[in-house]
Amino acid sequence: MRVLFTLLTVLGLEFFTLPAGAVLINGHSYAPLGEWARGNGFYGFTRDYGDEMVLTNRTARLVFDVDSASAEINGVNVRLSFPVAKVKGVPFIAQLDLDKTIRPLLYPSRYIEPKRITTICLDPGHGGRDTGNRVGVLFFWHNEKSYTLALALELRDQLKKLGYHVILTRSQDVYPELPARPALANKAGADLFVSLHFNAAQGGKNEVQGPETYCITPVGAASSNAQGEGGGTGATVANRYENQSLLLAYRMEKALVQYLGVPDRGVRRARFAVLRDAAMPAILIEGGYMTHPSEGKRIFDAAYRRQMAAAIVRGIVAYQKLTAPPVPPTLAPNRTAAAVSNIKKSP
Ligand SMILES: [Zn+2]
Repeated sequence: MRVLFTLLTVLGLEFFTLPAGAVLINGHSYAPLGEWARGNGFYGFTRDYGDEMVLTNRTARLVFDVDSASAEINGVNVRLSFPVAKVKGVPFIAQLDLDKTIRPLLYPSRYIEPKRITTICLDPGHGGRDTGNRVGVLFFWHNEKSYTLALALELRDQLKKLGYHVILTRSQDVYPELPARPALANKAGADLFVSLHFNAAQGGKNEVQGPETYCITPVGAASSNAQGEGGGTGATVANRYENQSLLLAYRMEKALVQYLGVPDRGVRRARFAVLRDAAMPAILIEGGYMTHPSEGKRIFDAAYRRQMAAAIVRGIVAYQKLTAPPVPPTLAPNRTAAAVSNIKKSP
């Protein structure tokens, strides 16, 4: 969706605090996209009468649209913090997006410390008095809380077979308060925090489908979730792990879209209560839209949730590979092989 923006007057004085070639747009520092691209070895061309820019080099392909915060990075949709802008025919990109989104995704090894992932905290969204999204089909209410728990239990089983230690913020139909969820992960010294949810489109827009993966919003940008939860732009505990969380969210969205063959709703940012206090790489997965006629049916089906859990495992393993030790957790190679053959045998 195109985001409209207004170009504010650039004050002469403010040029002194900006890097060479940068401009201020709506109070944010923007860099000329072409210059950045050349400096990083990209070739570029434009489409859509100059409003779509495609940058490529030997290993990467980036697509940007003027007036849009939706970018495509190596085939995965990623929501930027600010729309790409065009000033007198020259495209500009927010410096914050170069620093906090584009560079970490292009050069992960510079942003990630080698770390073995052993303990994973899964957070089945909602529970108890909080049903989450509700979709009525005939005379039956499908409650989000039931499907997040079912997915979490399935995912726990699959991760355990690979040797991960898994903890859950809830394993029954109860409601842990939101701050208690990351607190549990922190206390257990979890290496990853994964919150599981299912989406519902507002206003009867039942054509919307596909997964979205959220990670913490960078400092200085507004959250992209419509509810405006945690609307401030300041630092949270989770911002200490924001690069890792972004890389985990990216690998997760890619795994979900490729493995499930569903539309890519993109990597997004939000200061969700369950994300902002997590002292480890943390993401929130919206696994799909309960309101979509066919995706909804699949979400309500255990076989599809098993596939989704397998996709999430792939996302975690892909992220694990970035953090260096390539073998999942604490296992000797022979035990890993046994675990993998177990998975093959299961229906
Ligand atoms: Zn939810």
